[in-house]
Amino acid sequence: MSVLESFMNDLKPLVNIDCGSNNVAGVTKVAEMMKKHFESIGFHAELVDLGPTAGKGLFACNKPDADHYDVLFNAHLDTVFPDGTAEQRPLSTKGDRAYGPGCSDCKSGVLAIFYSLKDARPEDIKRLSIAVALNPDEETGSKASNKWLKEVAKKAKRALVFEAAREGGQLVRSRKGSSNYVVEFKGMTSHAGNAPYKGANANVAAARFALAAYGLADVLKGTTVNPGIIQGGTAPNIISASCKVFLDTRYWNNEDDKELDREINKLAEATWAPRVTQTIERVSHSNSMPLSESTKELVAQITEAAKLEGFDIEWVDAGGASDGNHMAEVGIPVIDGCGPAGGEFHSEREFLRMDTIEERIRMISRFLTLI
Ligand SMILES: [Zn+2]
Repeated sequence: MSVLESFMNDLKPLVNIDCGSNNVAGVTKVAEMMKKHFESIGFHAELVDLGPTAGKGLFACNKPDADHYDVLFNAHLDTVFPDGTAEQRPLSTKGDRAYGPGCSDCKSGVLAIFYSLKDARPEDIKRLSIAVALNPDEETGSKASNKWLKEVAKKAKRALVFEAAREGGQLVRSRKGSSNYVVEFKGMTSHAGNAPYKGANANVAAARFALAAYGLADVLKGTTVNPGIIQGGTAPNIISASCKVFLDTRYWNNEDDKELDREINKLAEATWAPRVTQTIERVSHSNSMPLSESTKELVAQITEAAKLEGFDIEWVDAGGASDGNHMAEVGIPVIDGCGPAGGEFHSEREFLRMDTIEERIRMISRFLTLI
């Protein structure tokens, strides 16, 4: 049986099971399947309890007593799909493409980790200390698992995330960080016709603030500020007493985040309409996955590994965050998109490019010879 045939056989049970992030039992079953795989190649593997809201994670390593890892491989076990999807449209193939819930996001990545270790040279497995962390809740923001991922990453020299490569085969060498703010404006209602000046218009204040915040974006630095929601007022003939502005900020560097944060807070202290006051809260925050000097070295090693396996790869910088951002927070180089290529994630059109499966597995096995 070819590697591809064997891979597709092993992929089937991983796709044909409902394992949306909230299906704790389903996600845990996937973790159990992967545990058996890693044990079959002599890795120590254990399920990781991350609390009642998420399925179990899986940790596997070849040297359980190691105090550091030469490399950490990460992928996620959950999907975005509701129960019943696996039965409705199980794994299928047509030409070079495979379909099915999570086939590419992220089951082929999960399985590619196992195959690249299975096919690695025994001397590399003996020489290197390798850890695998599969988390159960990436699709809902890794709330239960991000602390654990960071703990493991602290012991690692570098980390590779096995989300799918882009549709065209590109890998991801950096990701923007992002923050979300809610700014709540309070004014006073009044009749818009009879007593317009008695009121204090929260909508006007919010709109002025939103424009000023939007203006903090910097094209050259690649920072953006998006007032994604402005929500206020009750009727056209009432002066609005309350309005909320939801901001999303993005940045390549964490220094730019700090500066943006300072500037946004400064704006939130200013007066934007007479007698309207506001409060600001940063409700979420993730660091960037920067293209540091050490990341550049990792990028070069993977590029070289692909070349040695007879193909060229390209890299992209991505505006969206992933678990790579969490792990990069501890200061190690992280790259993403190390799984086989695919596209149309989170939809019924999701596909996996089967023609990239073998080459990507060989690329990672080869990478292990270079570190
Ligand atoms: Zn996803």
